Amino acid sequence: MEYKPEAVYNNLYRMSPINLKALSKPELEAFVNATGLPAFRAKQLLHWIYERHARSVSDITEFSKELRERVAEKAYISNLQLLERLTDEDGTEKFLFGLEDGESIECVLIPDDERLTLCISSQVGCAMNCRFCLTGSMGIIRNLMPHEIVDQVISVGRIIKTQPSVYSSVGGVITNIVFMGMGEPLANIDNVAEALKRITGLMKISPGRITVSTSGIASKIPALALEAPKVKLAVSLNATTDSVRDYIMPVNRTYPLKTLLDACRNFPLPPRSRITFEYVLLKGVNDTPDDARRLVRLLKGIPSKVNLIPFNACQGSEFQRPDDKSVLKFQDILVKAHMTAIVRKSRGQGILAACGQLRAHYA
Ligand code: SAH
Ligand code: SF4
Repeated sequence: MEYKPEAVYNNLYRMSPINLKALSKPELEAFVNATGLPAFRAKQLLHWIYERHARSVSDITEFSKELRERVAEKAYISNLQLLERLTDEDGTEKFLFGLEDGESIECVLIPDDERLTLCISSQVGCAMNCRFCLTGSMGIIRNLMPHEIVDQVISVGRIIKTQPSVYSSVGGVITNIVFMGMGEPLANIDNVAEALKRITGLMKISPGRITVSTSGIASKIPALALEAPKVKLAVSLNATTDSVRDYIMPVNRTYPLKTLLDACRNFPLPPRSRITFEYVLLKGVNDTPDDARRLVRLLKGIPSKVNLIPFNACQGSEFQRPDDKSVLKFQDILVKAHMTAIVRKSRGQGILAACGQLRAHYA
């Protein structure tokens, strides 16, 4: 589509005052143009919002007082509101953020040896209704806007910056981003793609350090490759037969295993890169040696690694976590078949680790 600054700006003008954080790069450039400012001011604004985490126009000290006033007459910068913050003994932190309309979302920050991974949300709630997932039981409230997705990275980045000692071992910056918080990213692909554009282009985080996880909306997997080139794909597989997967993940009734795995086979992978398959182990449901052997067969020919996640029990759930012995047995079968399979350490157990728990607790 041809980009017309006036058209974009006319559109924006109706939503006064303008939230600078909600604007795409071309929209912000149009705003600067329509305000009668030279083009380099757009660059400065982008730098201050995305790299210096400015929380208001008055934070932009590179602008004169007059210029700040002139911009602030028309525009503001929105911020996520930190509602609750929990830190686990293992260093994992969980943040509950409030949005402008009063809804709330969670992010989890996971420090590791040389990484600081931020797990972010793409929707308020989720429509996919997976039986083992607390977020699923909330239903969908709404999609997040691109800036609400990006602002999780900005806001946590800013929090980290103000207490560098805690994260100095990992350089004090977010190194990796995973879309594994609340919501199904591919059900909000347009906003997720725009957010990824801003995270990679404006915050300068490499796409190779970003993973988008899907429950298996196979029809949208090509769009991810097209709209958000070079980000990594994770698939929550969680079962090895259609009947079990139909039961625990209703999305499978629309996109059964074969359709999903064909879409994975067609996903363009950079050299040496792999698709991550997440597999939540549910006692007696999908954790048998036969399941492990079927998993080996299903993933044959797909460059893959498997993350085994023993189920995080949540209140009222019909499922149970398998014992360690059967988890290790499952892993052993995969490893003996020359697959990469790790058992995901349970992080943040002490702070309502399962996704959706903090929000549910707060409510
Ligand atoms: N909706 C996307 C992104 C969320 S990722 C998706 O499902 O892929 C959340 C991950 O946590 C998924 O792999 C899901 O299978 C897993 N999960 C959900 N509830 C869980 C629980 N109670 N215990 C362990 N893992 C869980
Ligand atoms: Fe949604 Fe993912 Fe939870 Fe399924 S596992 S309900 S897709 S957040």
